[in-house]
Amino acid sequence: MTQRSEAAVATGTTSARQPPLQILRWQRNLARLIVIAPMLGVAAAAYLAYTRGVTTVDLVLLLVLYVANVFGVEVGYHRHFSHRAFKAHPAVRALLAIAGSASAQGPVLFWVGVHREHHGHTDREGDPHSPRAASPGALAVMRGLWHAHIGWMFQPLPQDFGRKVADLLGDRLIFRLHRYYPLWVALGLLLPAAIGGVLAQSWEGALSGFVWGGLVRVFLVQHATWSVNSICHSFGSRPFDTADTSTNNPLLLLTSLGGCWHNNHHAFPAVARNDFHWWQLDPCGWFVRLLQLSGLAWDLRVASDRMLATRAASDASDSQGESS
Ligand SMILES: [Zn+2]
Ligand SMILES: [Zn+2]
Repeated sequence: MTQRSEAAVATGTTSARQPPLQILRWQRNLARLIVIAPMLGVAAAAYLAYTRGVTTVDLVLLLVLYVANVFGVEVGYHRHFSHRAFKAHPAVRALLAIAGSASAQGPVLFWVGVHREHHGHTDREGDPHSPRAASPGALAVMRGLWHAHIGWMFQPLPQDFGRKVADLLGDRLIFRLHRYYPLWVALGLLLPAAIGGVLAQSWEGALSGFVWGGLVRVFLVQHATWSVNSICHSFGSRPFDTADTSTNNPLLLLTSLGGCWHNNHHAFPAVARNDFHWWQLDPCGWFVRLLQLSGLAWDLRVASDRMLATRAASDASDSQGESS
């Protein structure tokens, strides 16, 4: 990688395919809303917790919707739609698309397009959110982490998503769900408000449900996903010698529910389960297996022992070749 292209990756100016200024302005305003609104929700939750405490309903709404939302993003947006790691019943596909959309990380075709660009150009020019630093030093590392986590959304994004998501453009069900994206975000905010209001029989309960099950949940799911982009390309172990900076980082296990085995994922992007050892817990993979056992998912792609052994042998011979 040339110094210039490294700098381009780190600063996010990765593509010659620049969008018109008006679209870039619109994209940046939307990114501000997506990032800042959930943060305001966290501040409101802190105020509510201080003034009236936190109810069991608030916490249950947060926990249940968080897990459903992460499954929507990691199982749906990522493993199913981006990598086609398994096939599923249309109702499951629809629910996964809706659950992923409710995390306010963009409509399904956008998310898949960005993610396929990430795999197509990982840590090289054209990767929308690589944290790879342009130069050594703590400041450069921090800038890289910021870019991979949030900053990339404010930079020009590739404009030719149609080419990247042609399979989904031809999928009538998913394309329709994609177009109704704002509705799914709104539903994700209003559903906990309605449940909180009904259970508490008060507007105060509705507000609390909206804040905890809605905004705080969106905040946590967003940062859980973005942490995989930033932290799992910066800190952790690399059992596979992939041509990128991807790492496994078990510290993100509880937030990512299995997405934290990111080096495993980059070594075998098309598989439905990231748990290559018994101790690599992968709740998202367990959920896919549960869908399979229920007859709701099939044709799971998995990394066989033979594939893992072949890959390990190839990595070992590569490193021997480099050291001799
Ligand atoms: Zn990655
Ligand atoms: Zn992926």
